[in-house]
Amino acid sequence: MELQELRSFIRGLPKAELHLHIEGTLEADMIFAFAQRNQVPLPYASIEDLKNAYQFTDLQSFLDLYYAGAAVLQTEQDFYEMTWAYLEKAAADGVVHAEIMFDPQTHTGRGIPMETVFAGIAGALRQAKPGLGISGSLILSFLRHLSEENAFATLEQALPLREAYRDVWLSIGLDSSEKGNPPEKFERVFRRCKELGFRLVAHAGEEGPASYVRDALDLLGAERIDHGVRSEEDPALMQRLQQEQVPLTVCPLSNLKLCVVGDLKEHNLKRLLEQGICVTINSDEPAYFGGYILDNYVATAQALGLSKEQLVQLAANSMAARF
Ligand SMILES: [Zn+2]
Repeated sequence: MELQELRSFIRGLPKAELHLHIEGTLEADMIFAFAQRNQVPLPYASIEDLKNAYQFTDLQSFLDLYYAGAAVLQTEQDFYEMTWAYLEKAAADGVVHAEIMFDPQTHTGRGIPMETVFAGIAGALRQAKPGLGISGSLILSFLRHLSEENAFATLEQALPLREAYRDVWLSIGLDSSEKGNPPEKFERVFRRCKELGFRLVAHAGEEGPASYVRDALDLLGAERIDHGVRSEEDPALMQRLQQEQVPLTVCPLSNLKLCVVGDLKEHNLKRLLEQGICVTINSDEPAYFGGYILDNYVATAQALGLSKEQLVQLAANSMAARF
């Protein structure tokens, strides 16, 4: 298929986005606009200067930029506008359902009230159904480089808001640096979240080994695995993922940009799909990794030579895997 034909074919498939960090949708021009509005100093002279810094050399270079970007988020309006801008782009890409991750610790750690974060993000999401035809929910995610005590404290801070946001806040997730922060570190807080009736997801098997995927399922009770591309290293785990149809929310351009794969042509997404795993395509942190969901589908389809049937399957998987 020609590129334009491929893009419009994929755009026309009803899709769910299940692995998207809302703070990772802050575009450079938005960072500058919010910084100016909130009088937050930035270590970059211009939008161009900031964009040039998107050539990451390693994970830390990304995280430095990511936290500098998130610091401009101060008010409910900022969180609302960031979320709405994402939802508009998702709608244009043919997304009909979005389950959005957010990291409250990135904001409460800077003194932003939990309520401000919820009100802005949920406010935009509630407008998405009537305004853009996108349904969705929120995944409150714990930062795994922080302690389990910190995660418990964050949960306690958020629980008083549960009733007010019951229509959108359905799930709990686990993200940030995987190495050195195994699933078992969060076993107790995830057990508590399960008792509270939340749906559970966790990042595993991106940089970490296949055993983290197994532990995310067994110790955390994760119902979906975010990334999970290293599951292939364990044949018994692969068989289990296939039999139980555990969805993997794979993010090809993120894997490329953070050097999980050296070239998109080497990505194992097609092999996972051909082994009957419930693979989905998502954008992770699209403002930083060079593309929203349609770009991820198109780049992957071209690099791996995915057939029309496989693209239909990927989109259908995403719809089947939504909560
Ligand atoms: Zn992620």
